[in-house]
Amino acid sequence: IAPVHIIGGGLAGSEAAWQLASAGVPVILHEMRPHRRTDAHQTDRLAELVCSNSFRSDDADYNAVGLLHWEMRRCGSLILACADKHAVPAGGALAVDRDAFAEEVQQRLAEHPLVTIERGEVAGLPPEEWDSVIVATGPLTSAPLAEAIGRLTGEESLAFFDAIAPIVYKESIDFDKAWYQSRYDKGTGTDYINCPMSRDEYEAFIDALLAAEKTEFKEWEKDTPYFEGCLPIEVMAERGRRTLTFGPMKPIGLTNPHTPGVRPYAVVQLRQDNALGTLYNIVGFQTKLKYGEQSRIFRMIPGLENAEFARLGGIHRNTFLNSPRLLDDRQRLKAAPRLRFAGQISGCEGYVESASMGLVAGRFAAAERLGLDQTAPPRTTAMGALLGHITGGAEAETFQPMNVNFGLFPDLGPDDLERTARGRLPKGRDRKAAYSRRAMRDFDAWLAASPFGGTGTAAA
Ligand code: FAD
Repeated sequence: IAPVHIIGGGLAGSEAAWQLASAGVPVILHEMRPHRRTDAHQTDRLAELVCSNSFRSDDADYNAVGLLHWEMRRCGSLILACADKHAVPAGGALAVDRDAFAEEVQQRLAEHPLVTIERGEVAGLPPEEWDSVIVATGPLTSAPLAEAIGRLTGEESLAFFDAIAPIVYKESIDFDKAWYQSRYDKGTGTDYINCPMSRDEYEAFIDALLAAEKTEFKEWEKDTPYFEGCLPIEVMAERGRRTLTFGPMKPIGLTNPHTPGVRPYAVVQLRQDNALGTLYNIVGFQTKLKYGEQSRIFRMIPGLENAEFARLGGIHRNTFLNSPRLLDDRQRLKAAPRLRFAGQISGCEGYVESASMGLVAGRFAAAERLGLDQTAPPRTTAMGALLGHITGGAEAETFQPMNVNFGLFPDLGPDDLERTARGRLPKGRDRKAAYSRRAMRDFDAWLAASPFGGTGTAAA
């Protein structure tokens, strides 16, 4: 069997290599470190964690990332097996001893007879004779490869400051204050949600923004371009107290049905962020405020007092494809299907998410090589919801890397919900539990039909 080439031995690439080798397909894993370093990695180990040592919540019953852990364990994930083996106490989270974890991932791959690790940069598009390639080079993809992918896909530049605005779960917005309307009534009725502010509310909001704690740029981030078009909201506020009322918070073209005849002083708009209509991003609110400050200050916005955030805002250097536009539903580049993309470069965010997209890419590539049929995990599962989001469910125009969250899952049907004693539909924790129950059931059915099954090889 001809080998599959994987470029990048990070979280996604290591997991993809393991899944391929476990399926009996030889792999050549190309990792540029230590010959060429990145600005964040410190060692030459595979699957190095560049920042926090946490894989976040391990609660599969109530938390989407915990559910993703569960699904990955069912698939014999190498990353999860090594994380479990080298876990350190962290309450309900899964955190690891980063050195022991990465050492174990590297050793398990190095010892596998079907895995060859080649150290060296792939400094451009891979040669044509590599007929099946998984590109998993992450947010710090080396420049020559990023530029070549940019030329191939028509994206002008793949590495840039990634300005992220917070994303809110629609069900946590208070529609006694907010309302649906596009500016000047363009578009469909549900494209935008509006939150009105009186003058006093606006002034208090600006005071809070100006006084808030910001995160500092890292040294290596300082040289990356920073576009005037996506200035952080707190920087705009520093330019003048009214600047935002002429920018993202301008009140024109909107009428508040809750207070007929009274024009708001400012309006915060939220734009639909996924095809399901469960998530909305706050338009123009890219920010470098610290996370705690963001939750506190954005909940000052009328209608968002109880907002739940699927993701908070941020600005950092990143490299990722506009996957909803460029990839097919098996993670292949439509313009060059021999290239599959996995991990952060494919538009997910986070260690676990990156590893999970490597896992599924490894299974797709193995099935293709062996002439087997591997379907995508169902959209009702954490893995399937994330994959579906980045390969088509997200809006291509505003696409930003995404963490897994229940907002990506299709709505629950009547059969998925047990009504409360008072005959009401469950909310909060009970709804999350219902998402998890449905996901676990559907994931196991998918695994049972998969040509590779739930091998559990890594844990064994
Ligand atoms: P990586 O783990 O980065 O792996 C990519 C690999 O490809 C690297 O080993 C790199 O050396 C190699 N490579 C790159 N180009 C080439 C090439 N041309 N040829 C050969 N090899 C190449 N996520 C979290 O969940 N928690 C965090 O705390 C966190 N902190 C982050 C901090 C920073 C500074 C950054 C940039 C990201 C952070 N992330 C964090 C987000 C992200 O999920 C992680 O970066 C994650 O490691 C991504 O996994 P990956 O496999 O896609 O990429």
